[in-house]
Amino acid sequence: MRKNDKVICNCCGRAIREEAAVPREEFLHVEKTWGYFSEKDGEKQEFDVCEACYDEWVQGFLIPAKIHEATELL
Ligand SMILES: [Zn+2]
Repeated sequence: MRKNDKVICNCCGRAIREEAAVPREEFLHVEKTWGYFSEKDGEKQEFDVCEACYDEWVQGFLIPAKIHEATELL
């Protein structure tokens, strides 16, 4: 989430490291608008997760996340 122009990890509450308002740390930003087939129909949810919390979250998956080698510089 954004607070005072800082990105805060919703999971652990830690601020993502920034220099001159540019994130110097990777994080996951999620935006989801739930639709008709959801019990949250019409609700938009948004959150940010730091890399440490992301790793912990993904390690709990029964089927591991697919990993591809990025061939282009982003
Ligand atoms: Zn975190």
